Amino acid sequence: MCKAMNRSFISVIAGGFGMEAPSSSGDVDQGEHREVTAEEVAEMLAGASSVVITPGYGMAVAQAQYPVAEITRILREKGVKVRFGIHPVAGRLPGHMNVLLAEAKVPYDIVLEMDEINDDLSDTDVVLVIGANDTVNPAAEDDPTSPIAGMPVLRVWDAGNVIVFKRSMAVGYAGVQNPLFFKDNTSMLFGDAKERVEDILRAL
Ligand code: NDP
Repeated sequence: MCKAMNRSFISVIAGGFGMEAPSSSGDVDQGEHREVTAEEVAEMLAGASSVVITPGYGMAVAQAQYPVAEITRILREKGVKVRFGIHPVAGRLPGHMNVLLAEAKVPYDIVLEMDEINDDLSDTDVVLVIGANDTVNPAAEDDPTSPIAGMPVLRVWDAGNVIVFKRSMAVGYAGVQNPLFFKDNTSMLFGDAKERVEDILRAL
């Protein structure tokens, strides 16, 4: 876990990610974010060739893994290539996402580790970020003053379109704002992840 976060054991246990300097990304005006409806996301997914799902702690809180598995099944039946990208510290326990996806019977061979999927994200039409935040934060790469600077992240912003499922613009575990939410190719789908994924299922 320390290796995955590029942090010492003490800083992981103590929280705050081992940095005392305030993050510049927290102070900067990030601009406007865009919102999307579940119906629009369903249309986008139906027209995609390749989809990657990157789950995080919010998928566990919402227990959204079951409708996520169902969307995966339906899209694969339509010929869409669907894969999962799992960050090593997504969730609150090592292997948290893998256990939830296995429980919902998502096939193992489409559940890939961060390092296996990162280079493919630029060839991906749509990424669904389901209740993840810190693990998809570009500030880790772009902002040396960020508390999460240097932490390896899933480069979801390289994809054609990114849909972020969360309930608000609130920060994640590390307590830092996420510039991903304000990028031109990102749209926010607000609400409980399970309810929104079920809305997409109905629309599909
Ligand atoms: P984060 O905690 O960064 O983000 C989770 C997001 O889920 C939040 O921003 C929250 O936004 C959203 N969320 C919460 N509930 C719901 C819901 N019901 N529906 C939709 N969205 C929801 O999670 P990540 O998985 O991306 O990152 C894990 C973090 O935890 C990392 O910082 C990691 O270092 C840390 N950590 C991991 C451990 C591990 O072993 N895996 C152990 C200890 C810490 P909103 O409130 O707006 O809905």
